[in-house]
Amino acid sequence: MSATLEKGVRVLKEIIDAPIASYFSSCVHCGLCAEACLFYTETGDPKYTPIHKLEPMRRLYEQEYTVLGRIKKLVGLSKPVTDAELGEWQELVYNSCTLCGRCSAVCPAGNDIVYMVRKMREGMSASGNSPDGIKGAATRTVTIGSPMGVKLPAVKAQMKHVEKDFGLPIPLDVEGAEYMVMLSSMEIMNFPEYLGAIAKIMAHVGKTWTLCSTAFEATNAGIQMGNSDIARVIVSRIVEGAETLKVKTVISPECGHAYTALRWEGSNLMGRPFTFKVQHIVEVLGEFQAQGLLKTEGFEKDRLTFHDPCQLARRGGVIQPQRDLMAMVSKNFVEMPDAGYMNWCCGGGGGASAIEEGEPLRMQAFKVKKTQFEAVKPDRIVTACANCRIVLEEGLEHYQMDLPVVGLTEMVADHLVEKGAMP
Ligand code: SF4
Ligand code: SF4
Repeated sequence: MSATLEKGVRVLKEIIDAPIASYFSSCVHCGLCAEACLFYTETGDPKYTPIHKLEPMRRLYEQEYTVLGRIKKLVGLSKPVTDAELGEWQELVYNSCTLCGRCSAVCPAGNDIVYMVRKMREGMSASGNSPDGIKGAATRTVTIGSPMGVKLPAVKAQMKHVEKDFGLPIPLDVEGAEYMVMLSSMEIMNFPEYLGAIAKIMAHVGKTWTLCSTAFEATNAGIQMGNSDIARVIVSRIVEGAETLKVKTVISPECGHAYTALRWEGSNLMGRPFTFKVQHIVEVLGEFQAQGLLKTEGFEKDRLTFHDPCQLARRGGVIQPQRDLMAMVSKNFVEMPDAGYMNWCCGGGGGASAIEEGEPLRMQAFKVKKTQFEAVKPDRIVTACANCRIVLEEGLEHYQMDLPVVGLTEMVADHLVEKGAMP
């Protein structure tokens, strides 16, 4: 039967594995995943129901792997999946899914819809149906070294600025350093103060650290696109850099998907364990705090709230450290409704923010964030993902909400007691 399938559909058929089959067969069509997805709740359009986003793959599974599906296809009750249909599904599989995992969290059948979307993206990518925005970011990461086209000279220029502004050295390629710090292009270009904050924190806690000239970029557009080969190339650069420098820990930056790619997928992509540990910067700061290494002074005066990046909190299980860190620097902290494990996505994760044509939908979906913020009326929003930060800023500007967004690492660094002043 599969000989009659078009190329893209054939690829999609090949990636249907045992978990996908079991998820489709256990779906009870309860619709709970719809109420968990910001693209459905904010538009009311049933096409954005998470399980519906996978409809071509469901039909293909049914037609190719179940007797009933084969019969339905034979008698014309189930229409064949075509490459053209996969093209039509691009908007549903990429623009309207941030891989946020809220749907997976509520499914009573235990279906990991994120896993299914990612599998479907593999088929879409292999059949040439991934969006140009993500394709471009992935190509730039492989050929130039970063999704925004940032090269080492630009990193070195930012390092110089930060060294001047903070009066601290930014080490590069230091063999044997305890920590290798990764960055996202967005931090290099939009938030270089993150690098200054790291320098300040590491000097404060007395740890050795380094950047790596061959692996400074952590963002993994291969994962977002659904292309394991590209994802592997990006991860292998980091592994090579970390193993050459013999570091003990690689710190994933304030970026959600970079953390997922390296922490949870990295070893599987490489087919072997790493010789180093991978931690998100929030986990590292949490450890420093628990070890009593962070001495801070003063508190933020503003009313603050925290936006949990999906990949860190829901998919990564890191929820408490950011709250403990906030408590160290703020006495006027307020939790938004649904904060923590069930926090609503910013609307731009999973590569969605790289898709220009998806912007109007993103802005519509952002209404859920607006509602969350309006419920607690903060003066500023704190987060720990540079992509969330940019997407939140865009959404807030769109809805004319004058609410600054700041990074947690910088906020912690701002309150550190000067070395000379420490008891
Ligand atoms: S929540 Fe789970 S069982 Fe219910 S419709 Fe969605 S995928 Fe199916
Ligand atoms: S992962 Fe998030 S954005 Fe994607 S379908 Fe599920 S709830 Fe919607």
